[in-house]
Amino acid sequence: MSERKVLTKYYPPEFDPSQIARTPKHLRPTGPKTIAVRLMAPFSMKCTSCGEYIYKGRKFNARKETTDEKYLNITIYRFYIRCTRCSSEITFKTDPKNMDYTCERGAKRNFESWRDPESTELKETDEERLDRLEREEAEEAENAERNAMEELEQKMEESKREMQVADALDEIMQRNARIERGEKGGKEEEALAQVRDLAREKREAEEREDAEAARRAFESASVAQARLEEIKLRKQASKHDETERAPQPPPSFERVKKVKNPLVPGLVRKTEPAPAPAPAVPTKPAGLGLGDYDSDED
Ligand SMILES: [Zn+2]
Repeated sequence: MSERKVLTKYYPPEFDPSQIARTPKHLRPTGPKTIAVRLMAPFSMKCTSCGEYIYKGRKFNARKETTDEKYLNITIYRFYIRCTRCSSEITFKTDPKNMDYTCERGAKRNFESWRDPESTELKETDEERLDRLEREEAEEAENAERNAMEELEQKMEESKREMQVADALDEIMQRNARIERGEKGGKEEEALAQVRDLAREKREAEEREDAEAARRAFESASVAQARLEEIKLRKQASKHDETERAPQPPPSFERVKKVKNPLVPGLVRKTEPAPAPAPAVPTKPAGLGLGDYDSDED
């Protein structure tokens, strides 16, 4: 409970009072201002709904409302408390004229011998009180009925609006679906095809132009070109012939027997011509006298 009484409160370092905005006007509570207050019952009373006695000095958490009534420019306040047994609402007001309180509804003030016996509240007989209560009850019932009717009307209005909204939504959805089905599916394809056609036509036109240009060029330069071509061809052919005429013999590594020049011209030894050399036997490389290691034959 002690923290309730502290005079200085902790403000964190990042606290910025300028960030605390005022409540916008449309969010402020409207209607009669009520404050929660704690009070003591200013007089003894009896609950009219359950007959419970509430004695003077009983503490309540009450609501305090400022009324429009005034007495000599003194504001009159109304307090709302609840019966301790049945929780029905009991209201009473301040009475500046008599420096007292007046019980308004929900309870009956007990008899107090020190009060003015001429006051209307005390003069009220049981019959009159019953009448008053009945009247109040009827008023309340009427209010409730009116509220119910208003609520019903509001509900009907709301449902009507909802139907309208649903209809509008349905229409929009249908339109969207139609757009999706019809225009998106068809028109986009069409546009794409059109673009493709255009591109193809352009390419074809270019190709045709190229072919035309080539043909014209060939026609104009055909004679000179032909001559040049011929010369070139002839040159190439002659070159080709030369190369063909003197083909390089593939190098052979066969042992060729040298024809010995006669030591003395005119003096030739009469011998049989040397027999054709035996087919080349692969000569083994000169060994190092260590035997052969490169063959598995032996
Ligand atoms: Zn009660």
